[in-house]
Amino acid sequence: MLDFAWWEITGKCQLACDHCYASSGPEGTHGSLSVADWRRVITQTREAGARMGQFIGGEPTLHPALPQLVQHALSTDMEVEIYTNLVHVTPEMWETFRLPGSVWRPRTTPTGPTNTRRSPSGPRSESRPRTSPARKSWVSRFAPT
Ligand code: SF4
Repeated sequence: MLDFAWWEITGKCQLACDHCYASSGPEGTHGSLSVADWRRVITQTREAGARMGQFIGGEPTLHPALPQLVQHALSTDMEVEIYTNLVHVTPEMWETFRLPGSVWRPRTTPTGPTNTRRSPSGPRSESRPRTSPARKSWVSRFAPT
């Protein structure tokens, strides 16, 4: 049964890293799926059994519909992660990050790049970023109060 899904909602990114697995960059696009299409995909993901979904890209915060897609995913009783590079986070996006059931995950750490995607079948424990001291440190450093 499906437990976890990645929703690659855009190929656009402010950066153009050589190692990018998705070949994302400033010239990337949001692709051909409409917001209604993405809402259906999210609903179908939940109906298939997923308990968590992660918005990725590209840089998912560049998709103008991300806040409403996050809200839609949360309304289906899924947990949501937003896998972001934190290059530019708008006030609306910080509000989205703070929604109950939603977590954001930095793509880099103060000590360098990270590649710590949790396994879809991995543990759902206290060690998850939302509760770790490192994540709290990131929140206190970057989130507006
Ligand atoms: S920040 Fe991430 S999505 Fe953007 S170009 Fe770099 S690796 Fe790709």
